[in-house]
Amino acid sequence: MKFLRKARSIFHDDWCSKCYEQMDIYKKELYMLPMMVGHYVSHSNPEYYKKNLIKVYTKKEIPIGTYACGIYVYKCPYCNHKATKLSIFLPVRDVEKSEDAFLFENGEMDDFI
Ligand SMILES: [Zn+2]
Repeated sequence: MKFLRKARSIFHDDWCSKCYEQMDIYKKELYMLPMMVGHYVSHSNPEYYKKNLIKVYTKKEIPIGTYACGIYVYKCPYCNHKATKLSIFLPVRDVEKSEDAFLFENGEMDDFI
């Protein structure tokens, strides 16, 4: 059972990597990533996002053809492990076209959100 849960946690960003329990969403924020469709460059360095993300409150604030970034902070109710997920997507009408996702588990984004 433990093994199965560990295997599954690879596919679930909201599963604690330490005790393999489901984590709670602690915070959810929306940002605009000033990059245009057709010119997307993948960045895995958290510093890039801290420098470039612009806080928005609704997807309507994001101009057409510009990327959005959802930040999810997860917290494990059992061991307090925290993980921050960056989900980069292109809002196309009502659909979110997923482009990239990064999971930071060592507090890399803690001084930003
Ligand atoms: Zn945990």
